[in-house]
Amino acid sequence: MVAVVTEDTAVLDRSRLDRLVEVLIGEGYVVVGPTVRDGAIVLGELDSAAALPAGWGVETGPGRYRLRRRRDAAVFGHSAGPQSWKQFLHPPRRKLFSAGPDGEFHAEPEDAPRYAFLGVRACDLAAIKILDKVLLAEAHPDGSYARRRRRLLVIAANCTEPGELCFCASMGTGPAAGPGYDLGLTERIDEAGHRFVVDIGSEEGARVLALAGGGAADPDDVAAARSEVAEAANRMGRAMPSGDLRELMRESRESPHWEDVASRCLSCANCTMVCPTCFCTTTEDVTDLTGDHAERWQHWASCFELDFSYVHGGTVRTSTESRYRQWISHKLGTWQDQFGTSGCVGCGRCVAWCPAGIDITEEAAKLAAVRE
Ligand code: SF4
Ligand code: SF4
Repeated sequence: MVAVVTEDTAVLDRSRLDRLVEVLIGEGYVVVGPTVRDGAIVLGELDSAAALPAGWGVETGPGRYRLRRRRDAAVFGHSAGPQSWKQFLHPPRRKLFSAGPDGEFHAEPEDAPRYAFLGVRACDLAAIKILDKVLLAEAHPDGSYARRRRRLLVIAANCTEPGELCFCASMGTGPAAGPGYDLGLTERIDEAGHRFVVDIGSEEGARVLALAGGGAADPDDVAAARSEVAEAANRMGRAMPSGDLRELMRESRESPHWEDVASRCLSCANCTMVCPTCFCTTTEDVTDLTGDHAERWQHWASCFELDFSYVHGGTVRTSTESRYRQWISHKLGTWQDQFGTSGCVGCGRCVAWCPAGIDITEEAAKLAAVRE
């Protein structure tokens, strides 16, 4: 094979991925990536590439998620786990300020780690870009998110093996990642070895890649990687119904189908907690027993909570029907009015982690069928 250097592609051997993680840590990044814990592939801080889930895949279905052993040592051979990168950029719980008996308010000093996310899927990169639209909006930017986001390095992992619940292709968000990554990896394992074809997306990406010793990519290898990723679009386990979803949601306001879904939905809020784009928060004030010290905390909120629609004296959405309708109608419909994009990127997490196995693609299809 003749190695040809191009400006925007390279190749990393499996051992060089280990080196890349060392380089990132040496350069002051907090490296976050997939790792196996508690029977799932979760996202956590990595102190070396040895913590990646080598040889692990997953089996998913509505309300179901199980680890499985793979026949190879792929490190990105799994679909979305229970967590998304949102938890690092937009933490589930954060102290905003405290107040003492002197009447003074003390803003909480904030640690904004310099994260390097390793293994960001196309759907999840699209989700980060949606969070950018919401939380970096010019009128009311979220300072905490902005500080974390500004320092972020993204190493994406293109999908060649979509999971049973993936439907990014029908949402236009995958399986190829980007733009918006610093480095984009496509994992390849064959007789030529275990390696990653790398697309270089930024100067910082090129710099850390050079330090890790990325080599010249073979054009045939690059072409084969691209074709595997493109082909993955035909093997998605799910698809969102085609057509104008915004219109479907608007026309389904009085659909009899809400009652049906409410008979299964537990209003548990799991779908909103695992969703990489749900961004709502609320605040709560707490005091100690002496009453001398008070704190204000921000934490994630869910439109499935009764308090979420509490407006002076009462909750507006008292029924499960109305709360599920709010969630899916916002996600697929009014999100587009607010932010010019769908709020769903097709990651399938809400389907896997719904205890009732409620599937957003099926519910959208049923709403479409009832309307016709
Ligand atoms: S709505 Fe479900 S499938 Fe869509 S982005 Fe959120 S968790 Fe993923
Ligand atoms: S759709 Fe599923 S995950 Fe969401 S609130 Fe209902 S039962 Fe919980």
